Amino acid sequence: MKKLDRREFVKLASVAGAGTLMPDPLKVFADAVDQLFGKPRQGQIEYVPKPVANAKFGMVIDLGKCIGCRRCMYACKLENNVPDTISPPYIMVFETEAATGAIGHYSSPEMMGKGSTLFYTKLRKDKWYMPVQCNHCDDAPCVQVCPTGASYKDPDGLVIIDYDKCIGCRYCMTACPYGARRFNWWEPHVPKDRINPLVPLRRHGVVEKCTFCVHRTRRGKFTRCVEVCPNKARTFGNFNDPDSEVRKLVRNERNFRLKEVLNTGPRIWYLTKPKEKHMQWYKPLPPPTNIRGIRQ
Ligand code: SF4
Ligand code: SF4
Ligand code: SF4
Repeated sequence: MKKLDRREFVKLASVAGAGTLMPDPLKVFADAVDQLFGKPRQGQIEYVPKPVANAKFGMVIDLGKCIGCRRCMYACKLENNVPDTISPPYIMVFETEAATGAIGHYSSPEMMGKGSTLFYTKLRKDKWYMPVQCNHCDDAPCVQVCPTGASYKDPDGLVIIDYDKCIGCRYCMTACPYGARRFNWWEPHVPKDRINPLVPLRRHGVVEKCTFCVHRTRRGKFTRCVEVCPNKARTFGNFNDPDSEVRKLVRNERNFRLKEVLNTGPRIWYLTKPKEKHMQWYKPLPPPTNIRGIRQ
């Protein structure tokens, strides 16, 4: 008889459990998976270090500084072994007409081609840019709908996917209001000389997304996208530290978060462009009353 692996077991168990009156079928499945297969394979333990104690990570992206160069997007792809078959990659950089607010295009087309990524070098008056990725939401809908516990929220703020528990049902993709998740339609093909040995390749049939560079940030490093941004549009840090750069930045009255009305509690804060003549169509949200008003 063919031996089931962890993922196949979860898939079968999910189907078998549907329609029965078990008290908490999802918990039973998750416990059974852990008991049968022990700790996750694929080096998940080494890849995902323990959450950092007393930390609450988050990011600030200053749209007044983003020049739309897409270096963050490309560096993220290399750092995280994102195959060319996943498009768009974890970061999408939207280009918008400054005068009208009309969205021009996002960053996928040039990433699909070979080496044609556009690298702008300075701010453009006629455009503005908005990078979007997983927000590592505090009340993440993707976590709530995941039937196997593969998507989970850690106390230091990161939303992680355990690829060994993912059965590829894609509920999370439907639930995410930010379009932040990608499905692996094919086996990953990353050229050998491009593979980052610190990050596992995700197999065909699982969902993936930005990890806030868990393999770096939990070891005291910045995310790769923060490191490469030439205009320092991105800042990553610990919101529990009152002296951190991120805490200082979100005191700025230009701060807002994506779709705040949904109460997902995104852990990425944006700063709008400073008021300029050609930006008058844009009305920034009112600033929060004080720093404690920000969910942490
Ligand atoms: S690297 Fe920085 S400036 Fe370039 S697109 Fe990304 S956030 Fe914007
Ligand atoms: S942005 Fe989407 S994928 Fe990321 S935590 Fe929020 S709901 Fe989940
Ligand atoms: S934090 Fe890491 S995984 Fe997330 S977008 Fe930036 S480089 Fe990619």
